[in-house]
Amino acid sequence: MTATTTPARTNRFAAKCATCAGWVPAETGILSGSRGAWKTTHAGECPAPAARPANAEPGYYVRPTDGKAVKVEQSKRHADRTYGKVLNFPADGSRPSWDYTPGAGYTVADLRPMTAADAAAMGLASGYCIFCLASLGGETLGAAISALIGYGETCAKNRGFYYPKGVAAQRAYLAEHGS
Ligand SMILES: [Zn+2]
Ligand SMILES: [Zn+2]
Repeated sequence: MTATTTPARTNRFAAKCATCAGWVPAETGILSGSRGAWKTTHAGECPAPAARPANAEPGYYVRPTDGKAVKVEQSKRHADRTYGKVLNFPADGSRPSWDYTPGAGYTVADLRPMTAADAAAMGLASGYCIFCLASLGGETLGAAISALIGYGETCAKNRGFYYPKGVAAQRAYLAEHGS
């Protein structure tokens, strides 16, 4: 008995192309072969692999789709790769954490740079400086300022964000904004 080869037909299910290993969406490619040895290929010429949007530079971003903070870091093993961490706030109000999230924050298309206002809003809402995850507030003048602004002084300096400089400016800020 010889295996009967069915004439080529449209693929009912999405599958990997046997020629280029690219993804063939359902009903767009060609199914050929026979029972036990089905093969899906692109109809006509295989498409060129889609160009990946440019990687985001390491830094802090906001993902507009859900408003989450994303930290893009340079891969130490691959100079041309970055990976993303997403800031998660536990429901119980405890310390937030930057969690490695596969697929998050790879490309500039998904993200916008984080502004001081973004960081401050998240800091004030959670009670933590979102960069170093220190809790905001305390007895010192600086701690009181940080709790009002929404991020700490060192982190502000590292990011180039506004922070009143020096005791006089901080006292004036506290007098104006403190309760
Ligand atoms: Zn193909
Ligand atoms: Zn900080």
